[in-house]
Amino acid sequence: MITGFKLVKIISLHSLTRLLLIVIAWMVLNTEASAGQLKAGVGREDITSEVALKNDTLYVKALVLQDAAATAVIITVDAVAIEEIGSIKKTYLSTVREQLKKEFNILPLNVMVNASHCHGIVCEDVEEKTVKAVREAMKNLVEVDVGNGVGFENRIMENRRVKLKNGKDADMRRAYSLPPDSEVASVGPVDPQIGILRLDQKNGKTLAVLYNFACHPIQGVPSGGNTADLTGFSSKVIEDCLGDGAMAFFIQGCGGDINPVLYKDVAYPPDAEPLGNMLGISTMRGLKQIKCKPDVAFKVINETISLPRAELSGRIESLQAEQQKLLQSLGANNLNFKTFLPLMVKYNNSEEFPSYFSQHYFHEKMLGRNDLDKLDEENRKNMKKYLANIHVMEELTRVQTNLALLKKNQAKNIASGKRTIDVEVMGLRIGDFVMVTFPGELTVQIGLNIKKMSPHKSTFVAGYTNGYIYYAPTAEQLKNVGNAQEDSDCILAPEWQQIFEDKVATILKKL
Ligand SMILES: [Zn+2]
Repeated sequence: MITGFKLVKIISLHSLTRLLLIVIAWMVLNTEASAGQLKAGVGREDITSEVALKNDTLYVKALVLQDAAATAVIITVDAVAIEEIGSIKKTYLSTVREQLKKEFNILPLNVMVNASHCHGIVCEDVEEKTVKAVREAMKNLVEVDVGNGVGFENRIMENRRVKLKNGKDADMRRAYSLPPDSEVASVGPVDPQIGILRLDQKNGKTLAVLYNFACHPIQGVPSGGNTADLTGFSSKVIEDCLGDGAMAFFIQGCGGDINPVLYKDVAYPPDAEPLGNMLGISTMRGLKQIKCKPDVAFKVINETISLPRAELSGRIESLQAEQQKLLQSLGANNLNFKTFLPLMVKYNNSEEFPSYFSQHYFHEKMLGRNDLDKLDEENRKNMKKYLANIHVMEELTRVQTNLALLKKNQAKNIASGKRTIDVEVMGLRIGDFVMVTFPGELTVQIGLNIKKMSPHKSTFVAGYTNGYIYYAPTAEQLKNVGNAQEDSDCILAPEWQQIFEDKVATILKKL
């Protein structure tokens, strides 16, 4: 029999054990999450090509993060990609990582490099400049407090893919014509969120701002010169506003199918600066809301996944058949561009009496003739047929450009001698700011999916990181292979998406 006294003793013993367990668990969790005071340092180098006409400065920037357990480096480069395309050579990533291992004993897999995807040209010695920027950051490590938040920007970008009424997708490039407006049914989504990480020194001054946003920085500048484009301008706005040497690091997100707004406008010279200014101001607005705190979690995970390569020969054949069909559909016509254009103006100017003054139409009618009406009928028929030929020609510009991409990628996949490709997926946690990476042009829906499924409130996705394997559209978008750039400039089979999202889910859990 248990007496009242004994019962109280057992209960309190149980409560004590439970309390002790909770305390131990808390201690374990906290040692895992935080290994002392986080330190950070920043450095930058000008990497603008000396040979191209210069508009503004391209930078490589380095952010070193260090606590008692680990050192990581986040490098951002104003370039189109890390190797494979553009002016950064194939050995870049391994050389930079080897050098940092040798000089500072930094684990190669703790070095993250993100390309802004601006189409600027960088200097020849970008590898050395990158190491130099890290060296500068390592020299200036200071204790930091950390905070994170979000900004909002939806004025500067648009989804470049349109759904057509025939069920296919088309996309917007300066390389080819868009389909006629009458064929377009809807447009894809955008992600207006700016993910922001803020690192403040102990004196309250901001040391670094890392901001993640999804948009191709390819607007260009009126001079046509070499430019870091809109994300170069946005970083400048942030740095000018903060002052005191604060550095802004732009991390390109899932911008695969996101273009600057009004990208194909021909009425005004293209200008990235106002778009960048808007992104910079919106980031500042988000930044102001962020409160920083000391002793935060810091974790880096880097894993490799094997993704299936696409087999494109069937699609190449069917697209070639489409190309032949389009060519054969070009019909005979009396008009050429010189005669078509004035007719277009005339027939749109006056529907009832396009060819001459109404007086003559009435005069003919009075005499029992309809010569002008007959001429109008013939001209209208030819104009319609001529326009149809033009639309076929425009469609051919799309088919042939995308066909060339498919052939290039099929050749690449065959030359690799493998049915899969290995890529790095990195996961970072800095305080409550969580980020996962991918070495390709993720389309915006992938980012929206990951944000939605993540157990962490502040999750962001960086494409264009630690390598470049071209576009990575969704499995759904890959049903459209051959009709838009993102699904044609892709070496992956549709199954890649599930494999990547599964890996991201496990990494997010571990973070
Ligand atoms: Zn791109």
